[in-house]
Amino acid sequence: MGGGNAIRGSRVGAGPMGEAERGQTAPRQDVTYYCSNEHRTLIAFSVEAQAPDAWDCPRCGLPASLDSENPPPAPRIEPYKTHLAYVKERRSDAEAESILDEAVKLLRARRKSGDIIF
Ligand SMILES: [Zn+2]
Repeated sequence: MGGGNAIRGSRVGAGPMGEAERGQTAPRQDVTYYCSNEHRTLIAFSVEAQAPDAWDCPRCGLPASLDSENPPPAPRIEPYKTHLAYVKERRSDAEAESILDEAVKLLRARRKSGDIIF
């Protein structure tokens, strides 16, 4: 707590008597997550649940955080690194290079088309 991101006081249910119909009496907290593509995602948690600091954006798959000013950076480099490390372990350098070349082309093509790698 104290991060300047206090959850605003939750409203008390509109009707004091009408909440039993669906057996949903648990109060909820709405938590908004922000990803670096400026998507906003509203997730409803039970107030008893601890809302996580990060959530995967359902629209683009990027990590999203509670801080709209500082959404987590897109992990563009990570899968590439992992892939390269994997390739280096398994292949000769020459082979690795051609595979790397392909991977880069693929990455660029995807970046151009705006697709997100999950
Ligand atoms: Zn997003």
